[in-house]
Amino acid sequence: MRLSHKVALITGASRGIGRAIATRFAAEGAKVALSDRDQEALRQTAADIAEQGGQALAIEADVQLKSDVDRMVVEVLRRWGRIDILVNNAGINRTAPFLEITEEDWDLHMAINLKGTFLVSQRVCREMVKQGHGGSVIQISSVNGLAAEADQVHYNASKGGINLLAMSMALEMAEHDIRVNALCPGFIETRLTKPLIDNPPAIAEYLKTIPMKRVGQPEDVAAAALFMASDESRYMTGHCMVVDGGQLIKLS
Ligand code: NAP
Repeated sequence: MRLSHKVALITGASRGIGRAIATRFAAEGAKVALSDRDQEALRQTAADIAEQGGQALAIEADVQLKSDVDRMVVEVLRRWGRIDILVNNAGINRTAPFLEITEEDWDLHMAINLKGTFLVSQRVCREMVKQGHGGSVIQISSVNGLAAEADQVHYNASKGGINLLAMSMALEMAEHDIRVNALCPGFIETRLTKPLIDNPPAIAEYLKTIPMKRVGQPEDVAAAALFMASDESRYMTGHCMVVDGGQLIKLS
């Protein structure tokens, strides 16, 4: 098992990509602390992991709130005494044309996607530095942080910010052997993408943009996250890894 004796904290872990990452990490031997706002879904995910023989701790927390972030980290440390891996996965995407994005929409994307990632990263990295045995931080970004998509100006900007946050953190954390990388998924089948997936003509059209001609699954992202979390990526830091079925390489 590749993550034996490791403790991982995963935000937004009750469903979708976060749930798949938590499940995969637990199957690889990690103790997984799952955080999310939706207590019921969170407890169900933790129970499912425990049923498969994993060790999971469910912590209700909103990543926008510094007090929640502090409490979340304290709870993990109280239970397991360390954090080796952090996955900042919590995020939202509410599409709107640029000219119609409200100030509230903008602030919410920045507060959850970008500030939330910063708050959790800083709190956990302070602990990792104190612990003195390095760590791996994985920021769940998006291909939208590397190229622009219409009707998602606020989302694109927040994910672009996450990529540079990962690189900037990597620069300062390298001396502590804390690696910081971003994972940039393409179109993955989750609640976030359900409206398009449930629209057959629209999804058929969309699939033309993906050379591999299929939508990604949360498990595809979890496999890449496992590589980023494990010692197999030990000389990689400040990298943005794309998991998109080739979508980003296609000019037309
Ligand atoms: P999802 O199914 O909607 O899951 C996102 C999770 O994050 C939800 O459980 C959500 O909880 C939680 N969350 C949202 N705001 C939060 C907050 N303030 N504090 C704590 N938890 C919060 O979406 P997903 O597709 O798995 O997305 C996971 C990540 O992957 C996101 O960062 C997303 O931007 C990124 N991503 C997704 C895709 C894709 O195609 N699906 C592509 C690229 C990147 P609530 O139920 O409370 O909202």
